[in-house]
Amino acid sequence: MLPLDPQADVGRRAWVACPNCDDRQGCDPCAEGRSCSAHWRYLLSNTGSLLHLQCPSCTHTWTHETHFGATRSRWERVISGLRPPR
Ligand SMILES: [Zn+2]
Ligand SMILES: [Zn+2]
Repeated sequence: MLPLDPQADVGRRAWVACPNCDDRQGCDPCAEGRSCSAHWRYLLSNTGSLLHLQCPSCTHTWTHETHFGATRSRWERVISGLRPPR
């Protein structure tokens, strides 16, 4: 297991499935696309529509392409604590 990244901040979270541990299996809020209080990832950084994430369950780090572009409302459904670039 990797240590948590020094940039990991509970105030910056993203609701994206972890490709490593898939801990959202069988979770109702996650299945409905809501902001689950148990299953979220640290948002380490972002570049455009690319999110750099770390999973608090298994400490896996990866890059997630949101394809959201400048659609702010969709960004705001996935991340909290970080405003998207204009
Ligand atoms: Zn994980
Ligand atoms: Zn969940």
